[in-house]
Amino acid sequence: MGRKFLVGGNWKMNGSLELAKTLVNSLNSQKWNTDLLEVVIAPPFPYLSVVRESLRKDVGVSAQNVYFEKSGAFTGETSTEFLKDLKIEWTLTGHSERREYFHESNEIVAKKTAHALASGIKVILCCGEKLEHRESGQTNDIVFAQLKAVADQVKDWTNVVIAYEPVWAIGTGKVATPEQAQDTHADIRKWLAENVSADVAANTRILYGGSVNGKNSASLAGQADIDGFLVGGASLKEAEFAQIIANANV
Ligand code: PEP
Repeated sequence: MGRKFLVGGNWKMNGSLELAKTLVNSLNSQKWNTDLLEVVIAPPFPYLSVVRESLRKDVGVSAQNVYFEKSGAFTGETSTEFLKDLKIEWTLTGHSERREYFHESNEIVAKKTAHALASGIKVILCCGEKLEHRESGQTNDIVFAQLKAVADQVKDWTNVVIAYEPVWAIGTGKVATPEQAQDTHADIRKWLAENVSADVAANTRILYGGSVNGKNSASLAGQADIDGFLVGGASLKEAEFAQIIANANV
């Protein structure tokens, strides 16, 4: 079985109950080959439950963040147990906005990833370099360090999807070229082969994220090591997200 293409939508801290209903209705009415394409959306926490209940069951729902303790005096945090209670199957970890604005280190991201997986929650693990790192030729150093922190704590990668998201491309309208994205995806796969296993390298999906839209997604989807997308801004626009799904390379 090849790697099933995955299109994820990260709503970030955007939307409303009304928009959530509009986006759910849109997804509920779209058609795609579910044997070849998986769709997962990550609404803000307060809407997870209503989205899960109203969305078709073959579309996954994801949290945008999770904590690494099961319960206790951690005001404002979200437990994997709450997610399981609400039938939420996925969480993002390590989104660059969490790393940047909430000071999540590689180790914290790894701890969250390991805890989520051990709790039975699938993970979209985000990684990516800043512009200064790309310009100084440090892209792989940064991305590999982010992945190594996870590899130190996670042995079973079955339920991990990697989202490579160059920080300079997120929300900026500046998309990586298909060649730039493919090169880094291939490097990540090689790193997995050398540092985790050949099996994990062959089977782990690597999504691209960073200003993906209905226009640029087709050429990105055609790259050998791009197994899907994590979409921010465009996932809040029903027609745009539908176009990205339609452009999936399946
Ligand atoms: C993201 O938030 O993961 C993202 C890729 O955002 P955007 O598509 O808006 O660049």
